[in-house]
Amino acid sequence: MRGLMMDYQLTIPALLRRAETLFGSREIVTRLPDRRLHRTTWGEVAARVRRLAAALRQLGVEPGDRVATLCWNHAPHLETYFAAPLAGAVLHTLNLRLPPEDLAYIINHAGDRALLVDAALLPLFERIKDLIGVRAVIVVGTHGHLTDLLLDYEALLAGAGPHAAAFPEPDERDAAAMCYTTGTTGRPKGVLYSHRALVLHSLAIALPDGMDLRERDTLLPVVPMFHANAWGLPYAAAMVGAKLVLPGPHLDPESLAELYQAERVTVTAGVPTIWMGLLQLLDQQPGRFDLSSLRALIVGGAAAPQAMIEAFDERHGLHVVHAWGMTEMTPAGTIAHLAPGVEHASPAERYRARARQGRPFPFIDIRARGAGGLVPWDGETMGELEVRGPWVAAAYFDAPDADDRFTEDGWFRTGDIVAIDASGSIEIKDRAKDLIKSGGEWICSVTLENALMGHAAVAEAAVVPIPDARWGERPLAAVVLKPGQTATPEELTAFLAASFPKWWLPAAFEFLDRIPRTSAGKFKKSELRERFKDYRPPDQGA
Ligand code: AMP
Repeated sequence: MRGLMMDYQLTIPALLRRAETLFGSREIVTRLPDRRLHRTTWGEVAARVRRLAAALRQLGVEPGDRVATLCWNHAPHLETYFAAPLAGAVLHTLNLRLPPEDLAYIINHAGDRALLVDAALLPLFERIKDLIGVRAVIVVGTHGHLTDLLLDYEALLAGAGPHAAAFPEPDERDAAAMCYTTGTTGRPKGVLYSHRALVLHSLAIALPDGMDLRERDTLLPVVPMFHANAWGLPYAAAMVGAKLVLPGPHLDPESLAELYQAERVTVTAGVPTIWMGLLQLLDQQPGRFDLSSLRALIVGGAAAPQAMIEAFDERHGLHVVHAWGMTEMTPAGTIAHLAPGVEHASPAERYRARARQGRPFPFIDIRARGAGGLVPWDGETMGELEVRGPWVAAAYFDAPDADDRFTEDGWFRTGDIVAIDASGSIEIKDRAKDLIKSGGEWICSVTLENALMGHAAVAEAAVVPIPDARWGERPLAAVVLKPGQTATPEELTAFLAASFPKWWLPAAFEFLDRIPRTSAGKFKKSELRERFKDYRPPDQGA
């Protein structure tokens, strides 16, 4: 017997309707390139979204066409987040930190029809414009100095009517948005999010044991809107009616701290490097900023060192919440909160639990597979994490050669090596390709990195394999010291020796000014691996 419930479609336009009718006066604040603050509301955004959707249609964008954005986090980008799906098209966010050739490849592979670009990013656009076949280019923030080929965003909106009725309700399984993976293995691959996936993802991340998002919150996504939908925060903000603060291109710790204070931000989200920078600023200038409104700093995208979580808590009274996800998962997968039994554990145990990547969001199923099949949830046995759920990719866009990322029974193979404990909380040990195989045993680079970043003199550490005649591979630690601090390899080795077996200890330390970064702000270990691939530790001779 079938249930007798309405077949209500879970769509992006439904989220927008809610924001407009219930939260129309809630603010959207943007930091402009010249640092001034621009203020609008969900109500005004919704009206402009309809105009933009109509304008896109007038430019020839048809249902199913891809509309690309090359933009920082700001109100027009937010408007496009809703307008492209409202027009039946697919929002395609482009990562502005990618090399021009990769951008051109992605734009062509996706078949983007229209492109929105920030005026400040026009030099980047100039480098790709002859390589791509986009029909219409719309420039945001230009003040009218444009050529025939480039359309001004504001002029376009002014010229479009508010054709609300012209847009049929999309099917919830239609594509609404698209994002390419950063392509650490092979070419970037496109992930196509359905309306339904984005809506269910919004519901899940807003839950109290998720990111705990409420109407009275003020959200500041530092995570770029061009990377995995800013972790779904723009859509979730519309759903719950939160105020949004968008930092534009100003992502330095000082600019962020000023915004947190001035706008009384309650929840913010970003990758560990952002929080490491903020921590250094707060340590150097304690008391300069009033951050008492902040109730959660959500961290993900790369492993959050336990020492960092502790430092924010102990020194600044700021609560870091650790989450894990992937572009292929819209992107939220797991999040770490203390289960009832752990709340009363010792501080050390609680920090350890919070430094894990945590338990899956509702409707995300997890399992891990080792050489001998699925591994037990004993907190120790490692395996590759496999996931499934309503916001997990079932395939990549037009990439027939990527079938190996999916199991025969339809789970997605994440490429992350984890141990799962009895409560279902995962700990990411490494990317499968970053594990170091020494004497036939695995050494987890991420675990070593996090431990090193707990040393008082260490700002950043990345661990990569170097060849070793006897053991196959041994770890090399690339270390960036904090300004004015010193540490010798011997001191760092002694520090690690307190927690790790001898064979895990790095064979060499290299002190660098900076760890290379990927376009998503993560450590670019492929560059370090390449750089040190023929490395010989000093004591091995030439
Ligand atoms: P992306 O698709 O660019 O967001 O990258 C996803 C990958 O980032 C995952 O497969 C993990 O390897 C890594 N990642 C994301 N969040 C975390 C986390 N909290 N801890 C460790 N690694 C993470």
